[in-house]
Amino acid sequence: MKRTPLILVSPCLERKGAEFADVSISLSNRYTDAIMAGGGLPQILPSVGSRELVAEMGRRCDGVLLTGGDDIQPHLYDKDMPAELAAKVGQLEPERDVWETLLVEEVFAQGKPIFGICRGHQMLNVALGGTLVVDIPTQVPGALNHRQMDRKMEQVHEVTVDRGSLLAKITGKQTLGVNSTHHQAVGRVADVLQVTARSSDGIIEAMELKDETRLPFCLSVQFHPERLIDLDPVFLRLFQCFVEACAKVRQI
Ligand code: MN
Repeated sequence: MKRTPLILVSPCLERKGAEFADVSISLSNRYTDAIMAGGGLPQILPSVGSRELVAEMGRRCDGVLLTGGDDIQPHLYDKDMPAELAAKVGQLEPERDVWETLLVEEVFAQGKPIFGICRGHQMLNVALGGTLVVDIPTQVPGALNHRQMDRKMEQVHEVTVDRGSLLAKITGKQTLGVNSTHHQAVGRVADVLQVTARSSDGIIEAMELKDETRLPFCLSVQFHPERLIDLDPVFLRLFQCFVEACAKVRQI
């Protein structure tokens, strides 16, 4: 019998939660709404510290969604960052960095589909050995304004999509208008990944595997498609195609 694919969604950590003002999880409903609209059943990942638990969560699910959030600890991708650059790093979620790194490793070990959004796009790159641009305004002179927090549901810049890429196949487009709420970006791309979309200032806006046969689905985007699905159905298709790949895993 066909069952709805279970998608593990990695949430943010909140230092002061609503009930007891202690460390809690926080996740925009837009992510889980988009998964459900795409045909999947979301399961939110709890705070899990051990590799064994992360591996078991990985085994129980049919795919993983890495969501947005705070900055990634700089020592995970640059051990000798100059102090003036390190000062540009924003709020951190160190525990989350640890289990998301483990989760990416398990996704590759177990051959599960993965979709990364914003911080998730950056996390995928860091977990696989790549680096980040710590602060776009500091390190990329003349860059577009990529941090438009007051327009998070709007298409504020365009990205050019590589022909033949998974992103091009899913969207059927060579350019996409996207939202942009980030001050960091992917720097050196991890060896197993390749860039498949950039904005006009060269910022990396999407990545996929070089060898697409390695996982059933692997896509990461710097923008927030879950916030644009009402504006253009092309963004819902990203979730639908991800969930379809997860459904195939479930049948195997
Ligand atoms: Mn952007």
